[in-house]
Amino acid sequence: MKILVLNCGSSSVKFQVIETSVEMIQANADRTLARGAVEKIGLSDSRLSLDVPGRKTYQEISEILEHRTAVERVLRVLCHPEHGVIASTSEIEAVGHRVVHGGEKFASSVLVTPEVEAGIEECVVLAPLHNPHNLRGLHAAQQLLPNVPHVAVFDTAFHQSMPPRAFIYGLPYELYRRHGIRRYGFHGTSHRFVAIHTARLLGKPLEEVKIVTCHLGNGCSMAAVDRGHSVDTSMGFTPLEGLLMGTRAGDLDPAVLPWVMAMEELTLAQLNAMLNKHSGLYGVSGVSSDMREILDARAKGNARADLAFQIFCYRVRKYLGAYAAAMEGIDAVTFTGGIGENSPDVREACVGGLEFLGIELDTQANRTAPRGEGVLISRPGSRVAVAIIPTNEERVIARDTVRVLAGIMPSFAVPGNEAPR
Ligand code: ADP
Repeated sequence: MKILVLNCGSSSVKFQVIETSVEMIQANADRTLARGAVEKIGLSDSRLSLDVPGRKTYQEISEILEHRTAVERVLRVLCHPEHGVIASTSEIEAVGHRVVHGGEKFASSVLVTPEVEAGIEECVVLAPLHNPHNLRGLHAAQQLLPNVPHVAVFDTAFHQSMPPRAFIYGLPYELYRRHGIRRYGFHGTSHRFVAIHTARLLGKPLEEVKIVTCHLGNGCSMAAVDRGHSVDTSMGFTPLEGLLMGTRAGDLDPAVLPWVMAMEELTLAQLNAMLNKHSGLYGVSGVSSDMREILDARAKGNARADLAFQIFCYRVRKYLGAYAAAMEGIDAVTFTGGIGENSPDVREACVGGLEFLGIELDTQANRTAPRGEGVLISRPGSRVAVAIIPTNEERVIARDTVRVLAGIMPSFAVPGNEAPR
């Protein structure tokens, strides 16, 4: 069946049409028929782009003021006789929606019903920058494709298996009870996808392996995936915690925040902007949030770009050590995301010299790894495998849509892992 996958942000709608089915999932044979994006929604020069395998990228520039028009244009271009890939929208049998925050309500992907919509609405308070746009895209698609099922796939759901010792912060417990302040974790679809494919690459059942997954893109997070369950992850209540990211600070002493607010006379909005937009690789280096530019500047001798690189990789190492202890050993470390898939320098700086943990990187294989493929880059005898798995969050969303409709979508919740009330 053909599934439309939608990922709606504040000013963009990313989409894919994926052909998949229960049988195709089992054979790992599902395929992307088209992918693209509408960017700069709300401006007069919004851009729609469409990529179809084997064809040149198609682009349209026009004024697209809101998400409904964006989804309408996406459907129109998909049905275009020359540029499109379907004859009419009736070929789309279901829509899978990326929803960032599912709180504690959603430990699985679900069919969208009025109750589910209300639940996503309730989670807006937890993700005010994301869920409202996800909902806007959902409503637009429901209006334009009213006769097909819509499925919501949450970034947080995979991490709902974490035990309370990993997700409760050392704050007054009332804050958890009253406001749901706890670690939720994000990038769940990616961590899940790469864990499944790492096990496949090792030729072992997922239920038998302990994997540390490193999603290193603009946003970065790691997860400890213990025999198929996420037992810890580096992002927290928001995607700000943990690793150093393009423009986000990651871990820091929380006491810095009131101190800086007072000293620099910052407002809350300015503090948030500092942590989310002016920190990370960009904040430390002063060069760029983009790892490619950090690597270039570092090669030219820029000391702060080098420092940003070192902090980035050192944090990955620290979390790797922590998760190896948390799971009492590991079988594999997997890299994914734009940086994880493409930068041999970063991978080597993250896992080089960790032979004492059983990790033996094959430096040659690391340097020559083909792009876009799942490969092992550890030495043949290494006790712990090191893998690169290109992530594909849209494919997980399409697959979950099929699973939900077939009634075979598992819940990620682990009975007994609820926090005391
Ligand atoms: P997003 O989190 O927005 O999906 P990506 O996963 O595409 O982002 O990752 C973007 C990051 O990947 C950027 O920091 C970019 O510099 C980095 N990246 C892409 N290609 C390379 C490369 N060849 N070498 C190093 N870093 C790369």
